[in-house]
Amino acid sequence: MLKRSIQDLRLDGKRLFVRVDLNVPLTDGAVGDDTRIRAALPTLRFAIDRGASLVLAAHLGRPKGRPVASLSLKPVAVRLEALLDRPVTFAVDCIGPTATQAVQKAGPSGVTLLENLRFHAEEEANDREFSSALAALGDCYVNDAFGSAHRAHASTVGIVAHVSDAAAGLLMARELEYLGSLLAAPARPFVAILGGSKVSGKLKVIDNLLPRIDALLIGGAMAYTFFKAHGFPIGRSLVEPDLVGTTREIERRAKEWSVELALPTDHFVTTALKPDAPYECLAINDRTIGDRLGVDIGPKTQQAYKAIIDAASTVIWNGPMGVFEIEPFNQGTVAVAKSIAASAGTTIVGGGDSVAAIVKAGVTDHVSHISTGGGASLEFLGGRTLPGVAALPDQ
Ligand code: ADP
Ligand code: MG
Repeated sequence: MLKRSIQDLRLDGKRLFVRVDLNVPLTDGAVGDDTRIRAALPTLRFAIDRGASLVLAAHLGRPKGRPVASLSLKPVAVRLEALLDRPVTFAVDCIGPTATQAVQKAGPSGVTLLENLRFHAEEEANDREFSSALAALGDCYVNDAFGSAHRAHASTVGIVAHVSDAAAGLLMARELEYLGSLLAAPARPFVAILGGSKVSGKLKVIDNLLPRIDALLIGGAMAYTFFKAHGFPIGRSLVEPDLVGTTREIERRAKEWSVELALPTDHFVTTALKPDAPYECLAINDRTIGDRLGVDIGPKTQQAYKAIIDAASTVIWNGPMGVFEIEPFNQGTVAVAKSIAASAGTTIVGGGDSVAAIVKAGVTDHVSHISTGGGASLEFLGGRTLPGVAALPDQ
């Protein structure tokens, strides 16, 4: 790796500010899948073992610049304390006197977790003063939040200008090494599977990936914007009408690059997003959908996608195939997780929702690389320089 690493820092007696990725799913105020917290542990233990005290900063969800009680990192502090097996002092604000006091209270070898960075609009605005206030809490800085490295925020980019020394954490380094070697020479056929709710968030990524991949499999709500463009009946399915033209453009570009673009041929439709709502499987051109909504890919699509995954040498997956949070509508996502697990090729799964599905399907050990970054890993594999990586000093 060409970036300065935590292994290059002098840590003994230092207060180390670490940007971590703790954006975990919460259910009823408690941490659900804790994969991301566990992924942060090696760097934290490394620094503790070398005599540093830790100030940890992270974001959770999208509070849009103001405090939202349900998006507090407090439950994460509780889980982190259990996993680290040492006390974690929680600071109810990420800057100002409460933060300073919490860090002082934690003491010379203590661990402090700061409240959700995104409770302040200045975080996402990459504000100078806010960056400097964060930097004041530590002697040096480590970025281990690969999953946030594609955003130029105060805690990932701005802060670097205000610290005496900065470096990549172990997780960040591992992601860059793994995905970097893949980017340099992916074994072909190279297949990307994209799902989730929106086309809009993934347009640029799709555009960058097309020249590099052999097939693109689409699932999730994203498919309905493509279907609308084809004139298929979509009922009340989640759709982005403004992006119908864009999906046509994606299909044109896929042809240009000889990329096989696969869309679902059948889907599960339901009357409501509820576990007990009646549902059935329809072909995607079946007009009896009426005013129901499409919530998962059907068995024919699952089979077709499995065949493409079986033939692939490299597979990257981001985004669920349906509303997988609601039990009957997780079948397509679980099927894709299992197909990926059965692949003999190199398989990479990124993004909170997709990783949660892999964990739930019990196939974590059968995936080559679980990336803590969803958008970040896709952008990286699309050849983009991530701002949070670019901001770190070279070795
Ligand atoms: P990721 O976090 O993996 O990048 P997104 O955040 O874009 O993915 O989207 C995940 C969400 O998409 C999930 O909450 C899931 O319920 C939702 N979703 C997937 N398919 C559908 C669908 N057909 N209709 C509505 N929502 C969907
Ligand atoms: Mg998501």
